[in-house]
Amino acid sequence: MNIDSDIAAAAEILKKGGIVAMPTETVYGLAADACSETAVRKIFEAKGRPFIDPLIVHVSDMEMARSIAVFDEVSEALAKKFWPGPLTIILRKKPSVPDITTAGMDTVAVRMPSHPIAARLISKCGFALAAPSANPFGYISPTCAGHVKDQLGGKVDMILDGGECSRGVESTIVMPPAVSTEGGALILRHGPICAEELSAAVGIDFTPPKKANPAHPAAPGMMKSHYAPKSRLFLFRGLSEIPEGFRGRVVHFVRPKNVTPRDYWLTENSDVNEAARRLFALLRSLDKTSEDIYCQICPDCGAGRAVNDRLQRASFKA
Ligand code: AMP
Ligand code: MG
Repeated sequence: MNIDSDIAAAAEILKKGGIVAMPTETVYGLAADACSETAVRKIFEAKGRPFIDPLIVHVSDMEMARSIAVFDEVSEALAKKFWPGPLTIILRKKPSVPDITTAGMDTVAVRMPSHPIAARLISKCGFALAAPSANPFGYISPTCAGHVKDQLGGKVDMILDGGECSRGVESTIVMPPAVSTEGGALILRHGPICAEELSAAVGIDFTPPKKANPAHPAAPGMMKSHYAPKSRLFLFRGLSEIPEGFRGRVVHFVRPKNVTPRDYWLTENSDVNEAARRLFALLRSLDKTSEDIYCQICPDCGAGRAVNDRLQRASFKA
């Protein structure tokens, strides 16, 4: 495989209205021309995603971003500080973006990915790409090309293999005050960039929304059940919370002192970024065993907060 010719082939498919799975630094995305209604419809169909759930639109430069959305002072500063990178900003949309991409809203979610393959692909296309995670709706997001192939292999026109995703969890989503439905700046989904970093960069507080509308969630992170394995997933803080006689698999934050064949861990060195990077691949591999899983809650800081958010939504609800 030659990556230059693969990117060129993928761009040709996208120009003709096809769908391509592409690596990004967060998770693999299922991409289509964001301004083509027929192309975007194919993403929803392949994923089984409800049309009320708007997509994130990926750009390769600010000129492309400005062609689809309007920037205010805060979003301009956020883009300058965190792009390219794992931050999605909700902006007022321009008329070039069709309703299907934004679920009929007058705002659009925009991100500039830093993964070189994603950046080169978008730039080669010359237009923005809508790209939600490349997995069936509601399941664990893919962090390598094999994950995409396993689940959507027959439904996509091409899979670009860019190895493992360096971040491993979906982007942080923010809504600047100029667009916010609640006045202040909102953090709609926790991700690799935490609220403290956002505040330090632009000098305002980012808080989770107070009002949630389950019928039309402002972000997928706000749906109660998401990112879920088929196995039953339970959460714990301390080992004493695991019922005596539990025979399933146990995922610890760091390597436990006494390792048994049913023990797994997210990080060697208490590194929340490593935990985020490894989380989804580990849950996927354990899901193949169909056994119950107990997973330890991470420290509530940085990307650990994103891990805990995904774990809460993926865990078993009776
Ligand atoms: P993903 O499935 O990871 O691509 O995440 C896309 C998510 O971004 C969607 O589920 C949305 O809820 C959120 N999102 C996209 N567009 C908007 C928007 N205009 N306003 C609020 N949230 C949005
Ligand atoms: Mg998703």
